[in-house]
Amino acid sequence: MSLIKLANVSLGYNKPILKGVNMEIEPGDFICIVGPNGSGKSTLIKSILGLIKPLKGKIIFENIAPNFIGYMPQETKVDANFPASVSEIVLSGALNKKGFLSFYDKSDVLSMEKSLSLLGITSLKDKCFNQLSGGQRQKVLLARSLVSTNKMLILDEPSNNLDSKSKKELYEILKDLNENHGITVLMVTHDLDHGNLLGNKILSLREDDIFFGPTTEFIRRIHNDK
Ligand code: ADP
Ligand code: MG
Repeated sequence: MSLIKLANVSLGYNKPILKGVNMEIEPGDFICIVGPNGSGKSTLIKSILGLIKPLKGKIIFENIAPNFIGYMPQETKVDANFPASVSEIVLSGALNKKGFLSFYDKSDVLSMEKSLSLLGITSLKDKCFNQLSGGQRQKVLLARSLVSTNKMLILDEPSNNLDSKSKKELYEILKDLNENHGITVLMVTHDLDHGNLLGNKILSLREDDIFFGPTTEFIRRIHNDK
């Protein structure tokens, strides 16, 4: 049983950036996407989320609906002059699965509180987002993406601009969500070689050399190349 399947998919804008991508995301997977800048990591993620239409092939949703995936984009713009509180920002993640022009209900408030507590940041609830440290902000944005799902998270370089301590904390949280809360994770990262290696599978994007498979096999290949 898979959640999402990519069958010989070509992705890009006017012309393809990635050709012949085959990938199967299964429940419980923690998949890291790696590759040089401009290799198409964000394009792939946005295509899975339905924000970009594949040029060829199909992205098949088998056991999950697209609007039940939590998404943490590469950059989230929060207006520096707009004094949004942490709880407001996290709550706004609930609009994801509801659509435009809807209102929050009691269950949204409960998921907001649950998601803050899962990440250990309940104490930040009434703080102003713009006064938080970088590490705290990333946790809040993660909590926000968690509000719209209990199944799957897609994260685009969530550890960007974090110091090594905050990075480690963020990865610990993701590992916990994956191992103990049944959340499937698909994450773009540059940190594979910083002792932070995690995830059971890897999608590595390089021009004409796309690898998808178990992390252990990927490492074996790297060692054989040297
Ligand atoms: P990565 O996330 O791996 O750094 P991206 O998926 O962001 O790479 O970009 C892959 C390629 O697609 C780059 O050459 C980039 O310039 C191009 N690209 C990204 N967004 C667009 C867009 N909206 N329109 C056209 N080309 C784009
Ligand atoms: Mg990117």
